[in-house]
Amino acid sequence: MMRTFQLAIRRTFLGGLVLSACSAFPQSGPSSLSAMYKPAADQLIAGSLADEQGYADLTYLCDHIGKRISGSEPLLRAIAWASDTMKQEGLVNVHTQPATVPHWVRGEESGEIVAPVTRKLHLLGLGMSVATPPAGLTADAVVVPDFDALQKLGRAGVEGKIVVFNAPYKGYGQTVMYRVAGASQAAALGAVGVLVRSITPLAAQLPHTGTLQYDAKQPKIPAAAISIEDALMLARLQAEGKPVRVHFQMQAHLEAPVPAANVIGELVGSEHPEQVVVIGGHIDSWDVGQGAQDDGSGIMATLAAMHMIQKSGLKPKRTIRLVFWVNEENGGAGGTAYAAALTPEQLRNHVAALEMDGGAEAPVGYGYGASSGGSGFRRARPGVQPPPPAPLSEGEVHSLALLQEIASLLGPVGATTVKPGGGGSDISPLMAAGVPGLGEMTTVAHYFDWHHTEADTLDKVDPVEFRKNVASVAVMTYVLADMPETLAGHKGAGEE
Ligand SMILES: [Zn+2]
Repeated sequence: MMRTFQLAIRRTFLGGLVLSACSAFPQSGPSSLSAMYKPAADQLIAGSLADEQGYADLTYLCDHIGKRISGSEPLLRAIAWASDTMKQEGLVNVHTQPATVPHWVRGEESGEIVAPVTRKLHLLGLGMSVATPPAGLTADAVVVPDFDALQKLGRAGVEGKIVVFNAPYKGYGQTVMYRVAGASQAAALGAVGVLVRSITPLAAQLPHTGTLQYDAKQPKIPAAAISIEDALMLARLQAEGKPVRVHFQMQAHLEAPVPAANVIGELVGSEHPEQVVVIGGHIDSWDVGQGAQDDGSGIMATLAAMHMIQKSGLKPKRTIRLVFWVNEENGGAGGTAYAAALTPEQLRNHVAALEMDGGAEAPVGYGYGASSGGSGFRRARPGVQPPPPAPLSEGEVHSLALLQEIASLLGPVGATTVKPGGGGSDISPLMAAGVPGLGEMTTVAHYFDWHHTEADTLDKVDPVEFRKNVASVAVMTYVLADMPETLAGHKGAGEE
């Protein structure tokens, strides 16, 4: 997961709007939806909770293919394996959809404090960073807690130095801007390199990578993550008042873009095959760990949910399409290619898009993002307040009530919450074009402890929690593909 949800602001006014929805749509209100689909939901939940195949697939992906960054050979193996696996598990129209992806290569990297003490840094270069000079960079460090402190130092305090962003973790969405934008913010004041305290709540001497984005107007300077412990020590040394000097070297570079692909498979609708509920996650990962939670769990749980619907004998009226998008982590080429390949009519026939990219911890429910309410999928940026969320339209309020009714079927797995605001970066091009989007939500109790690290390995995915996600996605997807109405957010397509 590259970005994250910001839901909190919109919660306050929701209750009243949901209440009014029921009276606005009395005859098509959601009261019958849960009764209509309870037998199917119970069947899908029982099957999912007993499923062994999904976790076995995730195990294979993690242990036999492993990390799979865009441009790498394991990614191509993952794509071929995923195609075969979709076919074996009963999907039809299985194919790959070409997408050209960046090829960023990490190379060797290391770092250390050289004064006033010598100490090795726990360092991991940020994705898309440029290299240091071959011998590395050695410079005085200047440690700042936030962008305001950086600005106060001005060019005189920053030029020629290595800026260390030591921002306390205030949630991923609020803190990730230091990783994404820190390099260019520091470069604008003449810094020669950047070290970023890892974007995580857990201090475990474990650096977390993730993409940065260079501002084209600023010099590109190398940037790496360091552990929380190292950032705190650098801050303590600076507080002693004598110069703190650091050295780091990175060989990171971009090679020529290379071909890759989304992997797509379907269960074809029995009455409206042209109408599509698209679900999935991203097949690429960072070049560390196994990409187990991020996002092996998302693609394997959504595949298992499809397999469960297929095995159940239920025949949804609309087509369910599974997509493993490529290059979510450092470019989004797969999500862009998928949306770009659709004709306007095909786009209008996308009645919902559901992304799972928050790990497979215990499921909580779904975030719903519709066009007029915005995707709810914003990232804090320096100096930019996110725009206030737009009020939900009457149709969106009604859709939320429908989703809450579907989610009420998910009591046995705990996924009964539906909130406005949600989606995912792979489906954001669809949502921008008006397709209603859903982000699968979990407790995220430990997701950001391991996210984008060497420790994102299979053991972090609890099999029981994984199966609950399979159940949640299977029920939500099946009902969306079969229910009489469709969600608001898209521009009129799919309505009967
Ligand atoms: Zn992800």
